[in-house]
Amino acid sequence: MTATIIDGKAAAATLRADIAVEVARFAAATGRSPGLAVVLVGEDPASAVYVRSKGKATVEAGMESFEHRLPADTSEAELLALVDTLNGDPAVDGILVQLPLPPQIDADKVITRIDPDKDVDGFHPVNAGRLATGLPGFVPCTPYGCLMLLRSQLGSLSGKSAVVIGRSNIVGKPMALLLLGDSCTVTIAHSRTVDLPAIVRQADIVVAAVGRAEMVKGDWLKPGACVIDVGINRVEGSERGKTKLVGDVDFASASGVAGAITPVPGGVGPMTIACLIRNTLVSAARRDGFTLESAS
Ligand code: NAD
Repeated sequence: MTATIIDGKAAAATLRADIAVEVARFAAATGRSPGLAVVLVGEDPASAVYVRSKGKATVEAGMESFEHRLPADTSEAELLALVDTLNGDPAVDGILVQLPLPPQIDADKVITRIDPDKDVDGFHPVNAGRLATGLPGFVPCTPYGCLMLLRSQLGSLSGKSAVVIGRSNIVGKPMALLLLGDSCTVTIAHSRTVDLPAIVRQADIVVAAVGRAEMVKGDWLKPGACVIDVGINRVEGSERGKTKLVGDVDFASASGVAGAITPVPGGVGPMTIACLIRNTLVSAARRDGFTLESAS
């Protein structure tokens, strides 16, 4: 192995510590703590784990966590009514509705009902438009976390050639826009891309957000490339009956060619949660006209 391992866990811990300092300053100046409301509908086990870690990180940063757990048969109207209440609640700076939602609820309808200025997930079309046009808003947490890791690993990204594999609204598209904002030359690859290995081989920066276990191989990479692996895939482990998490990149072969690479787990995942906490602090600061010194 030749690649530097990008320690997302350590980077996230540093960011969360910076945020906690700013939260204390905010609370001293305004007499309140930033608040994040997280809504979970149903009992999807993976979603429950995410919601628990988000709540824990919120409290550890000195913020208020408001958890709303609704039964799986909640109607769309009931969920929209809760979103309206949270939109109007002055103690709530950020609203996150955990996806996926049960089939009777239209997720797009719920996302567009959230006040864009409390949309700390950055999924509202208004925030997508702000990102596309370079206006201040909220950037989705996973791609923003990836950008932070890339900047800390590479310094300036200007002029670098970047390939983003995946074009989802949550990861691929905002990632491509963020890289463009940092003056990379960006290619977006997807399921219809022809000869993906040849395209990846051109890239100084590769962001894999596909959802296919270990798809990107070491011999697809330009030597020295910086590889960010967003994928979280559960596969059979080495021991019978056990599962393990792997990324979209074949770490064993890629780490012999890349200059730097994020591991799975311990790479992008912890940064996603840290960025959510950061977005909540930024929201509180904007709403109360408070100037942040760092963590922004
Ligand atoms: P998605 O399913 O919405 O999108 C996947 C994208 O990959 C699509 O745009 C599709 O065009 C592309 N794709 C599919 N097959 C392909 C192929 N063979 N070649 C090239 N492109 C192909 O998924 P998503 O929500 O963007 O998530 C992607 C991955 O990232 C998943 O594994 C997900 O679990 C993970 N994820 C991780 C975090 C985190 O915090 N680490 C957050 C969000 C998503």
